[in-house]
Amino acid sequence: MALQWISGTIARKHVWSEGLFTLSIRCPGVGQFESGQFLQVGMQLPDKHLHRPYSVASPHCDTLEFFIVRVDDGELTPRLWALNEGDSIDVSAKATGGFTLSHTPEAETIWLLATGTGLAPYIAMMREETIWQRHKNIVLVHGVRFATDLAYQEELEQIQARFGRRFHSIPVISRAEVPGALSGRITTAIENGTLESTAENSLAPSNSVVMMCGNPQMLDDVEALLKDRGMNRHKKAVPGHVVVERYW
Ligand SMILES: Cc1cc2nc3c(=O)[nH]c(=O)nc-3n(C[C@H](O)[C@H](O)[C@H](O)COP(=O)(O)OP(=O)(O)OC[C@H]3O[C@@H](n4cnc5c(N)ncnc54)[C@H](O)[C@@H]3O)c2cc1C
Repeated sequence: MALQWISGTIARKHVWSEGLFTLSIRCPGVGQFESGQFLQVGMQLPDKHLHRPYSVASPHCDTLEFFIVRVDDGELTPRLWALNEGDSIDVSAKATGGFTLSHTPEAETIWLLATGTGLAPYIAMMREETIWQRHKNIVLVHGVRFATDLAYQEELEQIQARFGRRFHSIPVISRAEVPGALSGRITTAIENGTLESTAENSLAPSNSVVMMCGNPQMLDDVEALLKDRGMNRHKKAVPGHVVVERYW
């Protein structure tokens, strides 16, 4: 079925670092959706409508946030990066996707693993009460290459101040040693136990569910490690512990 478009306006462009940005798009009329779902964002070119899926980084409202990285040889993102406040942009009218809390089993601890802009759906979820009502502990793990790739830090500090030890925000930085962050990859931090010790939680089928989002290599590698711990992909027919969103 053809996508229905809403003509949105960029209300705010926040640049976290070169090529890493959040667009807040005023687009009233987008249908109700659950945090974690994605919309298509794009524009009409002379020969085609160019669009890609983006997780919404805010709960449903009239102005929606999208956390985007410019892929230098990408078709759409250099064009999105070039936009400024007041410019028009198309947003699909209806969100889709099953990367949501209602498709995730209940557990004492929820692990939210992201690489890069895979942080987006968790920002939306953490701004609402549901995740805090469903889970006693929330562990957010954000894998990036450099400290400058860490976004939403102020907001995460505010969440930390509100929820104390119920919430752990753990940056994992692969190409630099940074105080307060784990060094290396998320997989290494799982294998050597530093992720669990930093999170003050065990990553086990008895108490945990895992959502993970972003780079497909990270998803595959972590999924294999979780499998060894008896944690499998969650399916309606066969309940498990792991829910995944692949960005490419
Ligand atoms: C369900 C879903 C949700 C998504 N949500 C987001 C989001 O919230 N933010 C976001 O930035 N992207 C997100 N993406 C990726 C997005 O749809 C585009 O693929 C991306 O923005 C590149 O578009 P492009 O036209 O510039 O690149 P294309 O010309 O389409 O080139 C695609 C290539 O770009 C690379 N790539 C794609 N996404 C990324 C990325 N996030 N980081 C690094 N390299 C990437 C991959 O190598 C991929 O093969 C999501 C994808 C899916 C499937």
